[in-house]
Amino acid sequence: MKVRVRFAPSPTGFLHLGGARTALFNFLFAKSQKGDFILRIEDTDVTRQFEGATEEIISSLRWLGLKWDEGPDIGGKYGPYRQSQRLNFYWEKLEELKRKGAVYACFCSSKKISSFSPEEGAIKSYPCGCSSLDQTEVARLSSKFSPAWRFKVPKGRIKWNDLIKGTIEVEASYFGDFVVMKSNGQPTFHFAVVVDDALMKITHVIRGEDHLTNTIFHLLLYQALELSPPEFAHLPLLVDEKGNKLSKREKSLSIRELRESGFIPEAILNYLALTGWSAGIEKKEVFTLDEMVSLFSLKRVGKASSIFDYSRLKWLNREHLSRIGADRARELLSFFEKTSWQKIIDHPRFNRFFDLVKENLPTLKEIESFAQSFLFEKIVFSQEQMDLIKSEQSQRILWELTNMVELEKEFNRKAVENLVINIRRLSSEMGKPARFVFHLLRLVLTGRDDGPPLV
Ligand code: GLU
Repeated sequence: MKVRVRFAPSPTGFLHLGGARTALFNFLFAKSQKGDFILRIEDTDVTRQFEGATEEIISSLRWLGLKWDEGPDIGGKYGPYRQSQRLNFYWEKLEELKRKGAVYACFCSSKKISSFSPEEGAIKSYPCGCSSLDQTEVARLSSKFSPAWRFKVPKGRIKWNDLIKGTIEVEASYFGDFVVMKSNGQPTFHFAVVVDDALMKITHVIRGEDHLTNTIFHLLLYQALELSPPEFAHLPLLVDEKGNKLSKREKSLSIRELRESGFIPEAILNYLALTGWSAGIEKKEVFTLDEMVSLFSLKRVGKASSIFDYSRLKWLNREHLSRIGADRARELLSFFEKTSWQKIIDHPRFNRFFDLVKENLPTLKEIESFAQSFLFEKIVFSQEQMDLIKSEQSQRILWELTNMVELEKEFNRKAVENLVINIRRLSSEMGKPARFVFHLLRLVLTGRDDGPPLV
């Protein structure tokens, strides 16, 4: 059977690192198994959504390079891929549950439900009494209010073999009856996920371990609908130093924010894969997406959560930037909405320039300041740099250097080699380390204290 997995974000905010990580693990698993990766937008809870979030998530995923085989923008055999356009499927399946006597009408007001607070150690779910209403009472209430539909949780144990967590077994009735269809005709998350995963022929559900309890509800629904459930794999979470799940609302950890700060997809994906998965190759930390696909296995996903490590992400960003070519850099820069980037990308010397500076870029954004001196010869010195250049000693060195250059008929490689020899001689004559002279030369030529090798 062909592997089919899905990434199913709710459009409640920007795509954040945690969400991108779930998408990546699904992608890696699908592609390593020659399977399909599906994008489904879970947009039935209108109260939690914000304008433009779906487009934002799609554009972030696209920028990351996690291509899907079916999805809301490209369609597919099992569409539509937005839950808001699939309501008829949920209503149909609800009828089936009604016929089977697996659900009952619930007339409790949301006020009554939200005011319920369970006693210590007692069942956590709201004890709805509606299951014991008789037929006449149900008919009377139904003529006044449209009910929600609650699933009758049967007694018995639910057991599954999680591909990451191992065997999990729980008493289902501990959780109490839960709503599958709200009184406004919208399915709950549990119901929509099960109906969609079944209809879309999803073979593996790979998601964060914060969904573990939900899986119990989902398995109960599969049972009631007589559908065979997919395999489940619950990923350990990516957490902050305090052990809290990285919040969706943490704007600085959104993919958009990282992109705007000059991080590149290659680094973000590599970083995220290594939070939880290990390729098992000693001393190798830098991987391309293709390499990760060919090495990926759920068996190498650990059970412990990972603490978000910004410095490692930054390190990987530098590593990947030094490995990409000028064409890829141009493509990545074109995502920025700044006209000054256009001038850089279009510069006839861009390719040579990028190959020269790429090993000195912590983020893509630093290209801008290098470009000022390397492409546009616009050099602005700080007061401190100016003081150094103007000092008597520096002036003498610069005068000597100018003479040395002027003596060369042609400024070729040989001339540069001579210059280096002469710089070493000059610095020892002046009792200064060669480093000092090279730094001064770099400064006057580029306006920078760092950069590619001067020669
Ligand atoms: N829509 C859910 C979320 O954004 C994910 C559902 C799932 O993966 O089953 O958390």
